[in-house]
Parts: sequence; structure tokens; C-alpha cells
Amino acid sequence: MAIKLHHEIVTLSLRHTFRTSREASDRRRNVICRIEFDDTIGFGEAAPSVYYGQDADSAGEALRQAAGRLSGDPFHLEDLVDDMARLLPHQSAARAAIDIALHDLVGKRLGVPLYRLLGLNPERTPRTSITVGLDRPEMMQRKVRELGPVPIIKIKVGGSDDQEVIKAVREVTSATLRVDANAAWSAPQALEKITALEEYDIEFVEQPLAADDLEGLRWLQKQTRMPIMLDESVRTADDIPRLAGCARGINIKLMKCGGLREALRMIHVARAHGLQIMLGCMVETSAAITAAAHLSPLVDFADLDGHLLIENDPFDGVQVTDGKLILPDRPGIGVRERSFEQEGRP
Ligand code: MG
Repeated sequence: MAIKLHHEIVTLSLRHTFRTSREASDRRRNVICRIEFDDTIGFGEAAPSVYYGQDADSAGEALRQAAGRLSGDPFHLEDLVDDMARLLPHQSAARAAIDIALHDLVGKRLGVPLYRLLGLNPERTPRTSITVGLDRPEMMQRKVRELGPVPIIKIKVGGSDDQEVIKAVREVTSATLRVDANAAWSAPQALEKITALEEYDIEFVEQPLAADDLEGLRWLQKQTRMPIMLDESVRTADDIPRLAGCARGINIKLMKCGGLREALRMIHVARAHGLQIMLGCMVETSAAITAAAHLSPLVDFADLDGHLLIENDPFDGVQVTDGKLILPDRPGIGVRERSFEQEGRP
């Protein structure tokens, strides 16, 4: 029986122009992938990131190459995922799409939700943060008010007025606040900024320094009690051992590491090094977000809001209720395709 792979590039419209210290955008092009085996279809998604040298076209090309190579038993997940890592070493998002679709397929063939296949308790999902992009203080206040009563907010910083931004946000919300600088600061600057942020009750600061400034990070984490979480500094399990002592924890994303199997390895390697774990995302539809959410009972923090930033999410999957991730109990990753015609949406 052949394993068939189809892919399609989708243009996602964002609810707000999304700014980080590096970029701004109001549309994203992701790639949806379908893997078919004996009348069962598994869904997957690639959310390629320019930061990692990938875009929808290169991810689509990678999936085209993969389509000619996938064969054998789809339950041989380790073999298939290893083979893809050799074939497409620089296309982590495309590999994540294949890995997610295979897990969806296998769960559907067995008739069990992915969390069950992994032996996880769906009650243990954490609450997710909702991310607010970089903006002027008064705009940040407006965006935070528009969110309504959410329990955790992640604020992108790294502009010239970070302290004013956080002060303004704190004035309009009592939510738990997390801060992500996306590598925008130098070590001395970060210590000054973090010290100034302490009075606003921040849960942690993500990636304050450049990805490879491990000396700076080690120094900074010794100087402050503020937990530092690393995102850009870590992609796969191999990156983790050298980060012990440089931060309190790491941010794992399926699109960086290449999928659920590598994310699982990372979770165990991070735990062995005494690191906390956050599960993050890119701007992703409910397909990839729901896949990641199935791992979330294993982690300390979730930042799985990518689907909530999109106006035209083609899938329906994990739900967010008072911030809590509610996993679907359908087989596989448990997402369903939405019909926009029926709903009268674009
Ligand atoms: Mg980040």
C-alpha cells in the first residue's frame, strides 16, 4: 500500500498586523499537507519562518521531494521521520508537516486521540498565553483591552520604549505577563531592562540576548531572579545540554525542531538538564497548534495561540477556554476541516 502526500499553500489573514523586534506582517503563507494511506487521511502543516531560511515555496518544494520518498508502513514513525531528516535537513517546517500528518494518520488508524497514544492525561494541559505584537504603549493598551479577560499575556518587546509599554499594559490588565525580546538586547542593557520590569510582576523573559550569546545569558541569569526562557537559542535536542545554567528553561516549537517526535526527545533532554519547558508556536492554523497541544500535558508553559491570530483558520481543533487548552477527543490530532462557504466567511 502506497503512502501518498499532497500539499497546498494557504494564505492566512492575520487579525492584527503582527510585529516583533525583527519583522511585521499581516498575512502568512503556510503549507497544509495531507498524507493518505488506505483511505485514511492525516493532516499536517508547515509554518515556515524566514528567520530559519524557509518560506512556503521552499517548504512546498521539500514536500514535493518527500512525496516521492515516503513508502512502507506509516506506523514506522521513527524510520520515516529519520529518513525525512536526512532528505530535508534544512526544512524543519516541512518535516514537521509530515511528522504531524503521520501521527494524525496513525491515531486515526488506531481510533485513538494522539494524547492517548502518547499516554498523556488531557486534564493536565496548561493554560496558554495570548501574544500581543510590538506597538506603541497606547496601541498596546487597546490590543490588551480587546483581548478581554485572558489569564496570561505575552508581550513582544525590544523597541525603544519597553518600560512604557509594560507599564501601560499593566495599567489595563491583572493577567500574568510574559515578555519576549526576540534577541533584541545586549547583556548589560537586558539587566537594566529586566530590573526595571521587576515591579510589573513579570513571569519570565524570553530570549533577551542574541541566540548564540551563551556567555551573556549565563551571566545574565546569575545576575537576576527573573527566569529567562530561551527560544532562538534552541532548535533541537542537540542544542539543549550547553544551555543548562544559561537560562531557566527552553521554548520548544514543532516548526523549529521538525515535529512531534523531536519535540518529545527535547522534552526529556530538557528535563534531564533541570530545565523548564514551554511549548510555543509560529502563526499556525489549528492543525499544527492542535498537534502541539497534545504534548502540552508534559510541559510547564504553553504559548499556543497562533491559530487565534488568524481570521481564516481552515481547521477546527483545540479549544481555548479561560486560557486552558481543551484537547479534542477525536482520533489522531482530532482536527476537522472548516467549510468557509457554509459559514459565509472568506
Ligand atoms: Mg519567542
